[in-house]
Amino acid sequence: MKTYGLLGKNISYSLSPSMHNAAFKALNLKAEYRIFDKTEPELDDFFSDMKKGKISGCNVTIPYKEKALDYVDKCDNMVNSIGAVNTIVVKNNILEGRNTDYDGFVTALTGNTPGDLDFEPGGKSVFVFGAGGAARTIVFSLLNRAHKPVKKIAITDIDIDKARKLASSIVEKQEGNTIITVVEDEGQYNDFVSKSELLVNATPCGMKESDPPLFDYRYIHEGLFVFDLIYARDTRLVEEARLRGAKAINGLNMLLDQAIAAFSYWTEDAGHAAVKDAMRKALETQLSLRK
Ligand code: NAP
Repeated sequence: MKTYGLLGKNISYSLSPSMHNAAFKALNLKAEYRIFDKTEPELDDFFSDMKKGKISGCNVTIPYKEKALDYVDKCDNMVNSIGAVNTIVVKNNILEGRNTDYDGFVTALTGNTPGDLDFEPGGKSVFVFGAGGAARTIVFSLLNRAHKPVKKIAITDIDIDKARKLASSIVEKQEGNTIITVVEDEGQYNDFVSKSELLVNATPCGMKESDPPLFDYRYIHEGLFVFDLIYARDTRLVEEARLRGAKAINGLNMLLDQAIAAFSYWTEDAGHAAVKDAMRKALETQLSLRK
């Protein structure tokens, strides 16, 4: 029996065990996916067990996505740019770091299955709310659409220093000539919404029905595509966008696609339909139980 799991702290809420265990079952694989709730001093032993093959692969979540970089033996350019690992693959006792939030975001953004946005970001103007871990992944994903770079990225955050830091780290690392702007003042939101073709909510704002609106939704226009990373349900942002004729999705497909990408790295199963079906059903069941 192979063991996989999710490394993090206080993560009993995670939907990952349901998704991955359903996928193992669908393929009749002798494997289990567990929660590894660890404190920081326990990390050395955890990664040593991985190297010895006691754990065959894992996802990494809060608060260890950055710390995990210290433990992997190699990682790709995207992981280096983002500065965070969310998936570790073990091959011949070598720990390889990946970031499947990147895969999940790009698949849901550009894909055309139900729940995807079917948006081609090349040459477009994008407005990102939030400058935390998810926003960082998104911004680097958009910059990495190298064949046709995004034209402009505007970033804002309640904590404007965070937005400034993210913007300057992009300017340092980017190879193209995408224009990066920090939207410093709430008074500028409406203007940036009006001029954007893609709007991404990478904040938790909207998770609770009582949350205030992110901005004045009357400025949403028909040509805007809206991607709200919140996955538990359609937020007011998503509903308001659809009411105004804009295409809008929640974060469910991204969550699913990052899990499918991790599963494919571990099992070398290239997106088997049974895996996708099993994971989606498990995810939807868990979310409906939480309503
Ligand atoms: P995070 O690191 O805490 O970053 C969120 C940022 O948004 C923080 O800097 C926060 O500021 C800021 N913020 C909060 N309310 C805001 C508002 N009204 N306007 C502007 N900025 C605001 O969180 P994260 O890990 O990046 O996750 C962000 C969201 O994405 C969460 O809802 C998470 O569940 C979701 N997510 C979804 C997926 C998926 O697969 N669908 C994957 C990753 C994340 P303060 O810290 O000052 O509050």
